[in-house]
Amino acid sequence: MPSFKQHCRNSKKRTGEAFEELHRWMDEPQKRLGINHRTERHDNSHIDFVKSKWGNKGVREFLRHIAEDYEFTAEQWGKDCIYCGKGTWKKRELCNRCLRILGKEYGQDMNYIKVAKRALDEGKPLP
Ligand SMILES: [Zn+2]
Ligand SMILES: [Zn+2]
Repeated sequence: MPSFKQHCRNSKKRTGEAFEELHRWMDEPQKRLGINHRTERHDNSHIDFVKSKWGNKGVREFLRHIAEDYEFTAEQWGKDCIYCGKGTWKKRELCNRCLRILGKEYGQDMNYIKVAKRALDEGKPLP
């Protein structure tokens, strides 16, 4: 997730104002309740409230904050496992399942990507 500071920096760049209060308000439930509560203050139902407190410029920054959060999440889902094609986390080359299989077989020191590519070339399953 972009940090509070990052959201403020982006707002400042766009509008000349950091909108600290707005960004703090948006992410406050998330801090208390965890990442799944991002949706709490990150949807259209809050626009009237945001407009009353921070005006039209604030509404635009509110929507941009949501876009930045989801852009970040999209990046996290940005790759497919080179071995099985499943989505990977944090732009890793291999999914968690394939990493687990290789980790069990080889421990930490092996170049998993190399091993997975070789298995794929040879049409073999992972060990
Ligand atoms: Zn957020
Ligand atoms: Zn995989």
